[in-house]
Amino acid sequence: MNQRDDRPVGLIYTGGTFGMQQSDRGYEPSEDLPQRVERDVPELHASGMPPIEWIEHDAGPPLNSSDVTPPLWYALANTIRAHADRCRGFVVIHGTDTLAYTGSALSFLQPAGNQPVIVTGASRPLGEPGSDAPANLLNSLRVIAAAVTSETGIVFGDRLLRANRATKRHGSYTQPFVSPVCDPLAQIGERIEYRASAGGERPADTAGIRATDAADVRIAMLPAYPGLDARTFNAVVGSGVQGIVLEAYPAGIGPGGDRAFVDAVAAAHARGVVVGAVSQARDGRIRMGRYASSTPLATAGVVSGGDMTREAALAKLHVLFAGGATPESAREQFARNLQGELTDE
Ligand code: ASP
Repeated sequence: MNQRDDRPVGLIYTGGTFGMQQSDRGYEPSEDLPQRVERDVPELHASGMPPIEWIEHDAGPPLNSSDVTPPLWYALANTIRAHADRCRGFVVIHGTDTLAYTGSALSFLQPAGNQPVIVTGASRPLGEPGSDAPANLLNSLRVIAAAVTSETGIVFGDRLLRANRATKRHGSYTQPFVSPVCDPLAQIGERIEYRASAGGERPADTAGIRATDAADVRIAMLPAYPGLDARTFNAVVGSGVQGIVLEAYPAGIGPGGDRAFVDAVAAAHARGVVVGAVSQARDGRIRMGRYASSTPLATAGVVSGGDMTREAALAKLHVLFAGGATPESAREQFARNLQGELTDE
């Protein structure tokens, strides 16, 4: 990373509360965000701030992030890739509801190579009293200007989190994101205190997975719950998915004592459907075989996602298949630490 980089930071607006305005139908994304940012965030031009350049993407109009679908991840990645030489990093403005999914997908795609991609949003729209949008944007830009990281991160409030470790929690206006098993990569105050060791487990070879569109990849997510049975599982498999993220009980994985369910998992596995398990507990980790009831599911082909978040697990399976992985290689890579998203045991 070049400390005297005078290239701009690319800003990409996908929607979300950050740029919304009140309408008679409730909050809606607005199209004129660049002009409003220019007007409402004069600190953008303070000394030490990097130049910015707004970049169009071709994934459609700004959205409430509840309407984001995987094609947006790839459209964003393609846009970032196309501008990666001209920019020193990118800030993606996104709604908070699905921000951690998009951030995770971008972390696996690594479209900017060794340059940082920071995803941010806001809990209160720009221009409203007490809005956190200006501070989140300015802090994102400061992180890039400081050249402390080449990761895909989330900046919200005074923290930089690893995107593929973060998850949204409800109810905190200033800090809706937590990173339950990975300390924040940086604390953003008057200075930016980057903690290299917080991200220690990111492998050295961090080249991303090359995937340029969502292809026909379909990944489902299914929680384990009392009553989950073969019929429901088979209905999901029958919908044509290539992978299922099974949100497992914190210790017992799923109904491993239900022969029909185990057989259904084994049949799906034999057909090439990857069933990856992550824990329902936000700070949990899958431990296959710890309890005897999980062994039949492991034998049937359920692969452990370790301590990955649900967002990282879903995005990872999607990106792997979109990048052309076979079921065997998707299974192997799902369980392996690619971008710091899981802790090796
Ligand atoms: N509903 C909004 C969204 O995810 C919430 C937010 O941006 O905070 O787009």
